[in-house]
Amino acid sequence: MPTDITVNGRAYRWMDRPLVVVCVDGCQFEYITAAVTAGAAPYLGRLLGGAGTSVIADCVMPSFTNPNNLSIVTGVPPSVHGICGNYFFDPERGEEVMMNDPRLLRVGTILAAFSQAGAKVAVITAKDKLRKLLGHRMKGICFSSERADQVTLAENGIENVVGRVGMPVPSVYSAELSEFVFVAGVKLMERERPDLMYLSTTDYIQHKAAPGTPVANDFYAMMDRNLARLEELGATIVITADHGMNAKHGADGQPNVIYLQDILDARLGESKARVILPITDPYVVHHGALGSFALVYLPASAHLPEPTAQDGLAQSIAALPGIETVLGRAEAAARFELPPERIGDLVVVSRLDTVIGTSRDRHDLSGLDVPLRSHGGTSEQKVPLLINRRIPEQPGTRRWRNFDAFDLGLNLAARPA
Ligand SMILES: [Zn+2]
Repeated sequence: MPTDITVNGRAYRWMDRPLVVVCVDGCQFEYITAAVTAGAAPYLGRLLGGAGTSVIADCVMPSFTNPNNLSIVTGVPPSVHGICGNYFFDPERGEEVMMNDPRLLRVGTILAAFSQAGAKVAVITAKDKLRKLLGHRMKGICFSSERADQVTLAENGIENVVGRVGMPVPSVYSAELSEFVFVAGVKLMERERPDLMYLSTTDYIQHKAAPGTPVANDFYAMMDRNLARLEELGATIVITADHGMNAKHGADGQPNVIYLQDILDARLGESKARVILPITDPYVVHHGALGSFALVYLPASAHLPEPTAQDGLAQSIAALPGIETVLGRAEAAARFELPPERIGDLVVVSRLDTVIGTSRDRHDLSGLDVPLRSHGGTSEQKVPLLINRRIPEQPGTRRWRNFDAFDLGLNLAARPA
C-alpha cells in the first residue's frame, strides 16, 4: 500500500480508515453553535465538547463557493489552482464565463492523486456546477444530487443513485438537495466503503435563514444525524465550509446594495469600465447575484496617461459608504492569494452588511422572498474546521485554513494526541 502522497507540495499520509471531508456551504460557525445550544445537533455538540477538535479557519478570498471548494480539494490557494470565482472575465477569450470548466484548473486534486494511487474515492456535490472540477482526473464515483437521475457508470462511476438513496431528485433550491448528498454518502459508506469521500452541500438554507432559526436548526439536525452515522461506520470526519454568511440588509429588510457599474458609468461614461461579480452562477434566485466582492476592469485610458488616474478612481470607490477595501491588481493578488491575470484592475470588497451589484436593472431581486443574506467579503472568511478526533497540540500561531482539511484528516488525525 502506498505511504505518502504528495500533491501540490503538501504530503498526505495514506489513510488507515475512511476519511470523509464535508464542505458545508455557507456554514458560519454560529449555525453550529446555535443548533447545538438548541439541542438540535447532539453529535456536533459532542465534537465541540471535547470528543473532537474544533478551530476557526480562514477560507480563501473571494469567499465564494468554487474558489473554496477547489482550495479544499487541492490544499492550496487560488493563486496556485487558478479558480478565483464562480464566474470571471476570461481575457484569453474576451468574454465573461462560468468558472466551472476544468480547463481553468491549473493543478491536480488530492482526490485525483489518491484515486490514481489506488484509493477508492467518492465525491458527491449538491450542485452539478462543481462536479467536473471536483472530479477532474479522478477515478471513482462522482455525481451531483442535482442530476442524480442522470448518472451512468461510464460518466459517474455509479448507477441507480436515486433508487439506492430512496429520495426523489430534489429541487435545486431546497434543503433536500444537501440532504441527498448526506444520505447518499452514508449509503456509499455502508456498501462501497470509500477510502476517501468528499461531500459538498449547497448554501440555500444559509442564504435564507439566520443561525438559530427553526429552519437552520432543522438543517443542522439533518446533517448531525448523518454525521453521527458516518462516525458509527468508523470514518474520520472533517467538517469545514467554503465561506460564512451574513445579513446584507437594513432594518427595513431591503438589501444594502452599491450598484458599482452605475456609479462608474456616471463617472467614466457608459460601459467604459466593466464590473464583474464572481458570485454569479446559474443559481441566483436566492441571492440575486449580490455578494460582497467585485472586480473592476478599467478602460486603457484609466491607466494612461497618468498612473494616478487609477488611484483616484480607487480612492473614490473606497470612499463610498459600505465599501471596506479597494486594491489594485498586484496588491489584491498578493493579499488575497489570487492569480493576478484572472482578476480585474481593481478588487473591491464591501463591508459585512453591504453587497455590490453591477447595474440596478441587471439584478432580478424578485426571488428574494426573505431579506438578503450573502457572502464574498473578508467578513465571511471565518469558517469552522472540525474533526471527530483529538489531534496533537498545534502552535497557537498557526493560521488555520479551510484547505488544511485533508492535512487535518490524513496527517494530524493519525498522530497520537
Ligand atoms: Zn458557497
